[in-house]
Amino acid sequence: MENFEKRLEDYAKLIVEVGVNVQKGQPVEIRIAADQYVFAEKLTKAAYEAGASSVRVDFNHQPLSLLHNQYKTVEKLAEVSAEDKARLEYSVENLPAMIAITSADPDGLKGMDMAKQQKASAIRYPIIKPYIDKMESKYQWVIAGAASPAWAQKVFPDLPAEEALAALWDAIFKTSRMEAGTDPVKNWDKHNASFKAHMDWLNEQHFDYLHYKSPKGTDFKAWLHPKVKWLGGGEKLHGGPERLGHEVFYNPNMPTEEIFTTPMKGKAEGTVYSTKPLSYMGQLIENFSITFKDGKAVEWQAESGSEVLDKMITMDENAAYIGELALVPDSSPISQSGILFYNTLYDENASCHIALGAGFPDLYEDYDKYSREELEKLGINDSMIHVDFMIGSNELDIDGYTKDGKCVPIFRKGEWAFEV
Ligand code: ZN
Repeated sequence: MENFEKRLEDYAKLIVEVGVNVQKGQPVEIRIAADQYVFAEKLTKAAYEAGASSVRVDFNHQPLSLLHNQYKTVEKLAEVSAEDKARLEYSVENLPAMIAITSADPDGLKGMDMAKQQKASAIRYPIIKPYIDKMESKYQWVIAGAASPAWAQKVFPDLPAEEALAALWDAIFKTSRMEAGTDPVKNWDKHNASFKAHMDWLNEQHFDYLHYKSPKGTDFKAWLHPKVKWLGGGEKLHGGPERLGHEVFYNPNMPTEEIFTTPMKGKAEGTVYSTKPLSYMGQLIENFSITFKDGKAVEWQAESGSEVLDKMITMDENAAYIGELALVPDSSPISQSGILFYNTLYDENASCHIALGAGFPDLYEDYDKYSREELEKLGINDSMIHVDFMIGSNELDIDGYTKDGKCVPIFRKGEWAFEV
């Protein structure tokens, strides 16, 4: 137990120092579930020790969200009160570092009226959008996980409650590169250096398209966008040197394993086979394949969960188009764990993947000069959904083709095929 306490403290420190990289005198906000009060205390202590001027903890609790959804009218759910506005203004002015901890029961919002919730968000969003825009990329944020009993039981249904909880914490520590006997801060420095080297290499190649092949049946080509870059790992705070006199490097996702891009809308051909189950809208879709023509999913089948797959791909008119291509080596800790976490933060980093639905506008060169509609026309897909599904394995090969027909190996048997 003493050992666990120490690991929890190390993890809190990692999130505060390497995740959001709290600056001296900066306020910090923590969003965390009410049953994680022990971890909230560790994070708060780590934040003060890193120099935070104040730490505010916002506790949430799934059963309360359910009650609000049940009893509030849409108007009340959507309401942005004077108090909310004052807080948003404070955030715009003081740019607190934001720490969000995900630990929820994957089935904990069953029975929520999602249509009501979506209606409320549609009213609320335009009211808070101006505040969000003013803060955009000016503050550090991080999402990281914490084990809860209900989540642990979902991930390890065959283990007794206590063992399941311990196993999930262990998986969270390991996938966050906190292997026992190593220095997690150094691990993350190395991890980010590797990200940068691979990302720079990919951006320098200016590939026209990628060709994916695996013995399982994947034979798929996706064309890249000449004005869209590859991105992965930590980020530099926008305007850090101007405002603070130095760069601030932070890691918005812990863990993170992917280098990703948004491909050209309308240009993908062939078939991909899933290599891990996909949990979508509370149901599992297993052993499925999707065939693309002119960038659009035209045929698909699944061994189980095919009705959910139908629903997902036909959600709106652009849900059948691709929003993301991501590269993740098979040797990465999440992939090696073989665990289905039922949580996007972990599962989206499990392996090489494709996302159906919306692309990432901010990967486009000079993206802030265009509206979302213009970017859509320029080839960045937009949709209500963005769903990652895994196609990577230790058998996946990927080649990059340049405009003049040169073929360069990118992945061989699920690992990077080039030296950086
Ligand atoms: Zn991704």
